[in-house]
Amino acid sequence: MDDSNFRAMAAEIEGLLGIDCTRHDGLGFGTRAVHGYGAVADGTGSINQPIYQTATFAHPGLHRSTGFAYSRCGNPTVLELEDTIAMLEGGCKALAFCSGMAAISCVVKQFSAGDVVLVSDDLYGGTHRLFQDVYAARYGIEFRSVDFSDLAAVDAACAEAAHTDGRLKAFFVETPTNPMMKVADLRALAERAHAHRALLIVDNTFLTSYFQRPLELGADLVVYSGTKYLCGHNDVICGFLVIRDEKLIERTFMDYMSEGDALSPFDAWLMLRSLKTLPLRLDAQQGNALALCEFLKTHPRVTNVLYVGDPDHPAFELSRRQASGFGAMISFYVDSPMRAERVLERVKVITFAESLGGVESLITYPCVQTHGSVPAEIRERLGITDTLLRLSVGIEDVTDLMNDLDQALR
Ligand SMILES: *Cc1c(COP(=O)(O)O)cnc(C)c1O
Repeated sequence: MDDSNFRAMAAEIEGLLGIDCTRHDGLGFGTRAVHGYGAVADGTGSINQPIYQTATFAHPGLHRSTGFAYSRCGNPTVLELEDTIAMLEGGCKALAFCSGMAAISCVVKQFSAGDVVLVSDDLYGGTHRLFQDVYAARYGIEFRSVDFSDLAAVDAACAEAAHTDGRLKAFFVETPTNPMMKVADLRALAERAHAHRALLIVDNTFLTSYFQRPLELGADLVVYSGTKYLCGHNDVICGFLVIRDEKLIERTFMDYMSEGDALSPFDAWLMLRSLKTLPLRLDAQQGNALALCEFLKTHPRVTNVLYVGDPDHPAFELSRRQASGFGAMISFYVDSPMRAERVLERVKVITFAESLGGVESLITYPCVQTHGSVPAEIRERLGITDTLLRLSVGIEDVTDLMNDLDQALR
């Protein structure tokens, strides 16, 4: 599709070229999450957006269109989800993908061989694999690991990248990081990235727009694994890309529909349903996490607890400044590798499973599972050892979670 076609098509579909950011001004986050963006109406008064389970759309006549043509390029259920996500994040446009990795891949495709991207040293394992084994190994994009929680290290990495003749194109940041819970100062990073004409890209999976809005802090793009907190029920794999500047919409949309990574209408509908309870779920999960953090800190078999909501966490004050919540991810060290193994085998209420963010509490063993594809020496340097466990706190009764951890640790 050439540029004029894109413009013609986009003009037909409200929201395709960006949402009206003022549409629900004055309403709170919870109200907007419940009601959604609401641009695609079917005229029946249905409270919920229907599932438009269709591959294609009839044209009323030659050169006339309903605004929709083919569901890889645009579907009313998916568009309502995208508009709602963009509105909640404070962006002008969102794209919904069939996985978080597909969204991240779309972002990386904006770069070319020889370009340099600074990335968190403590990245989600799947992202690390996509960057190194696919885009570095086969497409020549260079990814340099940086500890974004250390601004002096960021400045040093930028100074080094200055020798690449303007090939420094972006910072790709997770905050808090997974599983080490390091926090990056997003405002300070936006200043530094923009001073080098680089983009600031933030993976906001852990906190979501309910607790943290990176675009308001200066980021250019936000990516998500929507599979985690945004979904919250461990029943959909999906991802999002949220864009701040309208100039970036066209190219990313081009890649999205050319490659065919769009989310299905049914999954989009499940996600719309999930978003309605996002604030309730996150408040409940965070409440449980705060209580479990206190419990774990005093447990005799636990040697260290990493939670950004812990006043002893080095970035507690920074978190309070740039986010309105701490989330519900806790990492903790136990006194031996054998203990870690036993906890995984003995938990009963908590489930030993990968993933995070859902209403069910899950526990994982990062060194083997989520970070198994990160080289051993990097894991060791970061502290992802064989005594580290990662807990995604759900909404169960907190005493049941405490009793379960206690019996598993003893
Ligand atoms: C899970 C996850 C991803 C990958 O998303 P999928 O939906 O599994 O493809 C990316 N980033 C973070 C921080 C994640 O936790």
